Amino acid sequence: MKKSYSIFAFCIVYYSLLFCSQIFAQNNEKPKLIVGIVVDQMRYDYLTKYNEKFGDGGFRRLIKQGFNCKNAHYNYAPTETAPGHASIYTGTTPATHGIVGNFWFENGKNVYCVTDTTVQLLGALAGEGAASPRNLFMNTFGDELKISNIGKSKVFGVSLKDRGAVLPAGHTGDAAYWFDAVSGNFVTSTYYMSKIPTYLEKFNQRKLSDKFLKDTWKTLYPIEKYTESTADNTNFEQSLGNGKDTPTFPYVMADIVEKAKKNQFKKPVYELLRATPFGNTLVKEMALTILTEEKLGKNNQTDVLAISFSSTDLAGHIYGPQSIEVQDIYLRLDRDIEEILENLDKEVGEDSYVVFLTADHAAAYTPNFLKSMKVPAGLFDYKAQKENFKNHLNTKFGAKDWVQKFDDQNIYFDKKLIAENKLELETFEEEAIKFYRKIDGVFDVFSMNELVEEGGKNHAQQMWLNGYYHKRSGDILISLKPNWIDKGWYEKGGSSHGSVYNHDTHVPVLFYGAKIPRGKYTSRRINITDIAPTITNILGIQKPNGSTGEPILEVLGE
Ligand code: ZN
Ligand code: ZN
Repeated sequence: MKKSYSIFAFCIVYYSLLFCSQIFAQNNEKPKLIVGIVVDQMRYDYLTKYNEKFGDGGFRRLIKQGFNCKNAHYNYAPTETAPGHASIYTGTTPATHGIVGNFWFENGKNVYCVTDTTVQLLGALAGEGAASPRNLFMNTFGDELKISNIGKSKVFGVSLKDRGAVLPAGHTGDAAYWFDAVSGNFVTSTYYMSKIPTYLEKFNQRKLSDKFLKDTWKTLYPIEKYTESTADNTNFEQSLGNGKDTPTFPYVMADIVEKAKKNQFKKPVYELLRATPFGNTLVKEMALTILTEEKLGKNNQTDVLAISFSSTDLAGHIYGPQSIEVQDIYLRLDRDIEEILENLDKEVGEDSYVVFLTADHAAAYTPNFLKSMKVPAGLFDYKAQKENFKNHLNTKFGAKDWVQKFDDQNIYFDKKLIAENKLELETFEEEAIKFYRKIDGVFDVFSMNELVEEGGKNHAQQMWLNGYYHKRSGDILISLKPNWIDKGWYEKGGSSHGSVYNHDTHVPVLFYGAKIPRGKYTSRRINITDIAPTITNILGIQKPNGSTGEPILEVLGE
């Protein structure tokens, strides 16, 4: 009797210890994989606008079973792709991480954010340039993760755009893979490796891009169901490929390729895939290949997979946010995301991974569409104004190249020339301010040097300061009115981004997976720079070195 009691007591103690240790283990268990999904140019309101037409397994799964930050914003300008990706993954703004644009002007030279002439392209015989993250000053959360476990974690980036893969993969990434439109292949560079893995070779041998160039883009649902968008053919859209096609469904890719060739489309024809849902599907396929081939989430430490879908961006630029084309790209992306989640469940296990989904910036609606609804909007002729301003300076100070570089809203003066002529930079800055402030569409013009000294006095000034780095940004900054974009690119339709306004800053920020509160949301204002410190907090590692954001406590369940 006594003996069985003690066995009974032993069992209770044993099982309660086991149970406690399981709880303890669960509480300390880190997600096996972090998946970042960046949807290029996604406005927050697409989540609500297209909600009824989304399936249950994609965006809606992330919202219903995850955490929705409904009021998340970019906290700097310019709201562009490279700064966006860098800010998401480093948790700080361009003023700190240094990626002040897709392009900038530095030491008298034009710089593309990820071009690196010291490395070579891998994965294609001839292609576009090779890339690396060398221009990025700060660490990504993936870098901090790698440092924390002496490089045991695996970190990968994949995108159609080189900058959408390279910047998220950080300095220590195992690889960034991006789409090369010259070859139609996914490529990488010698920054990451000396020889491409067999799985990349095999992936490229599938020739998916050739297959898609023979495919047809039809709407997912009967076209009359797209009641959230304008008619299929409006004056607010540009065409796909050389401006000769009518932008209407169905898009028979083989015909578009033929027409593009006849019309001397100056880019490689694979470029045409970038503004179709096929581009996103290519990225989804490559992401799933990396997931399985690299056995992500199956190691003893957390891995990172950074996926960036950018067909949404080019489609937004060409057709505009009100178009059926943009809506259909999102409905199809919803399917691609569903497939990714299903594969994560299968490969890593439900509740064993964390996904966050956001955008690198949002976008304005097409200016002429807005004008048709009496909303103030317009097209700014940067090119014509550049010539006018040059002439103005020449009349005033003599015919010389006083400006080294006009880069849309940035003006870079030739400071050496100005000094040689015993003139003051301030004088030229004052002239620029006076000149541009008079032009329709300009909201304000700043001397960035003056702004740095005096500090931002309003929201717009603070936003531009957060995006300013003295060695790379211009001396003068032209801040346009809301819904005003470059006439040179968008006279025929389509839209863009880059401003300080909510139409460019308000983006989705969704968290989903292991220990993330389910079906909860916050309407509190969240900055884009809060994502990275939230992830490092989940992982219990050091905050990224330059991060100026704060962990989102609601996501951590605190
Ligand atoms: Zn972008
Ligand atoms: Zn864009």
